[in-house]
Amino acid sequence: MAQTDSTTTDLFIIGGGINGCGIARDAAGRGLSVSLAEMKDLAWATSSSSTKLFHGGLRYLEYFEFRLVREALIERETLLRAMPHISWPMRFVLPYHRDMRFESNTPTSNLLSMVMPWMKGRRPAWLIRLGLFMYDHLGGRKILPGTTSVDLKAGAEGAPLQERFEKAYEYSDCWVEDSRLVVLNARDAEARGAKIMTRTEVLSATREGDRWRVETRDTDSGETRTHHARMLINAGGPWVGDIIQTKVRINSREGVRLVRGSHIVTKKLYDHDKCYFFQGTDGRIIFAIPYETDFTLIGTTDAEHDDPSVSPECTPEERDYLLNFANQYFKQQLGAEDVVWTYSGVRPLYDDGASSATAATRDYTLKVDSTGAPLLNIFGGKITTYRRLAESALEKIGEHLTVAEPWTAGVPLPGGDFPVDGVATLVAGLRRDYPFLTEGHALRLVRAYGTESRQILGQAGGLAELGRDFGATLTEAEVIWLMDREYARTAEDVVWRRNKLGLRLSQDQIAELDDWMAARRKAATAAE
Ligand SMILES: Cc1cc2nc3c(=O)[nH]c(=O)nc-3n(C[C@H](O)[C@H](O)[C@H](O)COP(=O)(O)OP(=O)(O)OC[C@H]3O[C@@H](n4cnc5c(N)ncnc54)[C@H](O)[C@@H]3O)c2cc1C
Repeated sequence: MAQTDSTTTDLFIIGGGINGCGIARDAAGRGLSVSLAEMKDLAWATSSSSTKLFHGGLRYLEYFEFRLVREALIERETLLRAMPHISWPMRFVLPYHRDMRFESNTPTSNLLSMVMPWMKGRRPAWLIRLGLFMYDHLGGRKILPGTTSVDLKAGAEGAPLQERFEKAYEYSDCWVEDSRLVVLNARDAEARGAKIMTRTEVLSATREGDRWRVETRDTDSGETRTHHARMLINAGGPWVGDIIQTKVRINSREGVRLVRGSHIVTKKLYDHDKCYFFQGTDGRIIFAIPYETDFTLIGTTDAEHDDPSVSPECTPEERDYLLNFANQYFKQQLGAEDVVWTYSGVRPLYDDGASSATAATRDYTLKVDSTGAPLLNIFGGKITTYRRLAESALEKIGEHLTVAEPWTAGVPLPGGDFPVDGVATLVAGLRRDYPFLTEGHALRLVRAYGTESRQILGQAGGLAELGRDFGATLTEAEVIWLMDREYARTAEDVVWRRNKLGLRLSQDQIAELDDWMAARRKAATAAE
């Protein structure tokens, strides 16, 4: 049955990735009325498939992307303070070896090949030190420690590496739970008045005088609905071009370049808590990162990906590329049998005409089409710059609607209202008040929900009072929270995006969870 909303909202946002949800939160907090439609689950596309770093992007310095690097470096600590539960500092160990090479066509490699042709594309150590010096000083570093040198023959950092690596540099960046970041932005947007509609696909958007008429379809029920808005925001990520061409149907010269990136996950490869930044002989870099306590995350690749409707998957070639890359560094030689999980995402990069996928800019570009009711198209961007991107979007929106001043810097996301170094205190507090929680269980809750963990645990005096045990510390009380407060509808939403317990639960356990969630949804619908 077709429904029509009687009101006209200020903004209608297409896309429930980090950019759509970040803009929704910022705009709702500035008093705008906002509707957001996401065709599947929040963050199901690129925003759950990143390397999960709040980082300046050390390698972008070689592309002279100083504006992007500076903005991202400053932003790291602003974000860390606002979400100390889902983000934390990490140290990156960059082993040095004289065979490391530049990507052949960066501005830096071109310059070096003119002034130091004998290096034949190799990266000199002094250049890495210079890059790290800039990384330390370009902006905003107050909490994170600066660069140090590491003797790999002496410390734990060298233990898993091959003997030929004798020295390394160590610098700081931050981890972030990317898909939780999206959900927390959506929740905060909703708390400030936004309407968040998941499993709601935008079928078309048409200008009607000075407003937009947007047709959506509930992908579960099939119900269609008409909405009206003063401004349309296209935050469709990899679908940004598809939305311009097939949903809004306008001519645009702007293009998106889709670049797939894949990651592999292995059992934990080493015992310390630092990451590795590996440089390859092909000029690319990959990370090896401690992941979910018992695993190591290795990525990523850069592969052209023409069609957003083709679901990205880590190909055997990408898997082998990552394994071979890591095998040039680790003593332990990895094979395909060591890979326990892979994931893949598509970067929606602004098409700046760069020669290679690796070289295409990671900066964002916002373009307004005002040939009638305004349309804002979002290209590119990083998880790290989502809040700044939202502020830039609000500046553009402010040319058409009245918006209040920026407010998001320094305002915590739900559950993040505690100090950056306060996780251990929260965990200890939970274990004191809920003695039945193991250390691992309490830490997982704090890392996901921060100060809101207590709302999930309520008055429970024992594990059994948290209801059904779905395995790997996932209880009924937590699943109910995720369904009622965090838009989760299926087991996949829960075990791959609200948390990563999919790494620990069996297929049968996941299927049982899915059945339980379906039955709960059915009961809720029957009761309406
Ligand atoms: C491999 C990889 C590694 C990365 N690593 C990092 C990193 O470490 N740090 C960092 O800062 N950044 C990183 N990034 C970049 C970052 O992940 C992306 O820039 C960001 O997630 C893009 O978010 P988005 O909201 O634009 O897109 P998405 O997250 O893809 O969101 C777009 C949403 O629009 C929805 N949509 C599309 N069409 C419609 C429609 N018709 N109706 C309703 N909804 C629709 C889609 O379902 C989708 O959920 C990485 C990216 C990749 C691929």
